[in-house]
Amino acid sequence: MTTVTAYAATSATGPLTKTTITRRDVGPHDVAFDIHFAGICHSDIHTVKGEWGEPLYPVVPGHEIAGVVTAVGSEVTKHKVGDHVGVGCFVDSCRECDNCKAGLEQYCTGTGMVGTYNAVLTSGEKTYGGYSGAIVVDEDYVLRIPDSIPLDAAAPLLCAGVTLYSPLRHWNAGPGKSVAVIGLGGLGHMGVKLAKAMGAKVTVLSQSLKKMEDGLRLGADEYYATSDPDTFTTLAGSFDLILNTVSANLDLGAYLGLLASDGTLVELGAPEHALEVPFFPLAGMRRSLAGSMIGGIPETQQMLDFCAEHDVRPEIEVIAPDYINEAYERVLASDVRYRFVIDTASLR
Ligand code: NAP
Ligand code: ZN
Ligand code: ZN
Repeated sequence: MTTVTAYAATSATGPLTKTTITRRDVGPHDVAFDIHFAGICHSDIHTVKGEWGEPLYPVVPGHEIAGVVTAVGSEVTKHKVGDHVGVGCFVDSCRECDNCKAGLEQYCTGTGMVGTYNAVLTSGEKTYGGYSGAIVVDEDYVLRIPDSIPLDAAAPLLCAGVTLYSPLRHWNAGPGKSVAVIGLGGLGHMGVKLAKAMGAKVTVLSQSLKKMEDGLRLGADEYYATSDPDTFTTLAGSFDLILNTVSANLDLGAYLGLLASDGTLVELGAPEHALEVPFFPLAGMRRSLAGSMIGGIPETQQMLDFCAEHDVRPEIEVIAPDYINEAYERVLASDVRYRFVIDTASLR
């Protein structure tokens, strides 16, 4: 076992503080890597604040992890020392159920996916995430980061990137399709870039027009403020696909009304409280309300390669680990442009 420095939450209300954790010895199928950068996802905040249930404190968050391989086990074939690699939201799954066999490990029906942090592996080992100096992960759950993507920009792709890529692909975003993204935060800004790169018409639905210039620069064709009631009459019935990335509960009925008939609203945001859905805006135009969770390993690799090929990169603000608590406050205030990425050099 090796000891590494990390930032951990020990309660729902206190700040994250510097601590040490241990990483397991490198097993035959393991890849050990130095973490260079870790993104801050709003899910980290929901988790440490206990909004999704009581966490297994101490929690070392971070599931947008990018780094460089330092050691590999004797049986490892997919990665070698010096490779640029990444880890997303999970580090294991049953590998035997239909979903695992189909590369949809995030929907594992066996053990369920084992989260990169705040979870327990079948071995009994508790998982700790990317706000730390190094990690050891089974090679099958480690992604290859294309050389053309710098590690700091690669980190947010491992969660925010694939969480938007997967539904855009599943619901066939592309030329001739009109896609709206609700919320221009970490997930939302990746949705704009990816939908644009796929050839769809993209509209941002943000609380205000404060970030309009950014939104258009990122590739949006149109930008509307949801605080303006006119938005909901102007855009009624206009979208084939709406991706909701908002971390809080919205009036879903109002947004369902923006879908064309047979359109789909995909819930990606994971608010603390249950969703409330009125009947008529849903059934009236045979609309669908769906959900989608991150993406499997093959699709995450496909997304990384797509971003390399189409020059898609997140907009990031790189921070030192001692800024994590302030960064959390800024995420909660929707003051993030558009992903905080922790430079973990001082934790190595
Ligand atoms: P984020 O960076 O905080 O972005 C969320 C955006 O939603 C904000 O920037 C803001 O955009 C908008 N927003 C926030 N509060 C709002 C409110 N009360 N009313 C209306 N709009 C509001 O968060 P994120 O990291 O993108 O994550 C977003 C959500 O997705 C979180 O709940 C997270 O847990 C979840 N998530 C889900 C998956 C999945 O697999 N489904 C994966 C990762 C994260 P504007 O200022 O533009 O309005
Ligand atoms: Zn995430
Ligand atoms: Zn499985």
